[in-house]
Amino acid sequence: MLTYNDIITLRDKLANGEIDLESAQAQYWKDFKEEQRSWHTKDWKERKAKIIKDKCEICGSKETLTLQHRSHPKSYSEYLREIKRSYTNEYIENNSEIDKSKFRDHILENYDYMPTPLCPSCMGKNPNIRVSKIPRYRCGDCKHEFDEAVYRSAIEMISIFYEDEDAYEVRDKCFVSKDKWENIHNLSNVRYWYQRQQAINKDAEKIGKEAFLLYLNDTIKYLSFEDTITACKKCAFNYDINRMELCPECKQYYKGLQYPTCIQCLPDEKRKAAIESIGFAKEMREIHKRLGID
Ligand SMILES: [Zn+2]
Ligand SMILES: [Zn+2]
Ligand SMILES: [Zn+2]
Repeated sequence: MLTYNDIITLRDKLANGEIDLESAQAQYWKDFKEEQRSWHTKDWKERKAKIIKDKCEICGSKETLTLQHRSHPKSYSEYLREIKRSYTNEYIENNSEIDKSKFRDHILENYDYMPTPLCPSCMGKNPNIRVSKIPRYRCGDCKHEFDEAVYRSAIEMISIFYEDEDAYEVRDKCFVSKDKWENIHNLSNVRYWYQRQQAINKDAEKIGKEAFLLYLNDTIKYLSFEDTITACKKCAFNYDINRMELCPECKQYYKGLQYPTCIQCLPDEKRKAAIESIGFAKEMREIHKRLGID
C-alpha cells in the first residue's frame, strides 16, 4: 500500500511523463485491497494524530474523537466514464460524417435486428395481434385486416436513417447488441456507441491517464485531511449515517444537513408541518414493515 507521499510522487511522475499509465496503475494497485483501507496504515494514523483536535468541533465533547471527512473521493471508473463521455462528445462534433459502409458492417456484425411488424396497406407500426380472430392482425391506423405483417430489412432501415435520421421509420429501438449487455438501441443510439468506441480507441492512453490523474488528485486531497473536521463519536455517526449535524441555534438537538435548524428551533408554522410529515413517514414505514416490503 502506497503512503500519502508515495502517491504524490507517483502522481507527479505520471503527470510529467516519467512513467506510463500502465506502470503507474500497476504500482498504485499492487497490494491494494478494498478491506485494507488507507486508515489502517501506519502512515495514515501518524498524519491523522497531528491534525485531529482535542475536542469535537460540532458539540465540544472530548469523547472518542474521529476525523470526519466532508467529501469522499470518486472512484477511478467514475472518472473514466466522465472523461470518455467528454472525448466522445468532442469526437462527434468533429466527425459528423461517418463511413457509411463501415457503419453498416458494424451494425450487421454486432447487433441482432428485431424488426417492427408493419401494416401492408399503410406501413403503419400499429398492427394489433388478435388472439381468437382471423385474420390475425388488424391495423390500428387504417383498420386493414391481414394475416401477414410486413417487415423492413436492416439494410432498408440503415438507408432510411442516412436520408433522415429522425425519420419516423427508424426511431424504434429494434437493434439488440450481441454482447453480454444486450442493449436495445435505435440507430441513433447505435451510432453514438459506435462513435464513442472510435473516440476511445483513438485516445485510449490519453483518456486513461487523464482519468487516473483526476482520481489520484482526489485521493491525495482525501488523504491530506484537507476537508475534515474533528467530531466525537455521536456527531460523526449522525453526520455519516443519519446525514445530521448539531443545530446551530440551540446547539442541543441534531438536524438534517439540508435544513437550517432543528425542528424545535423552526418557526411555529413550519414546525407543525415538519412534525406532521415526519409522523406520516413513520406511519408509512410501519405499514411497509407489516407488509414485509421494508
Ligand atoms: Zn460532538
Ligand atoms: Zn394500416
Ligand atoms: Zn435547534
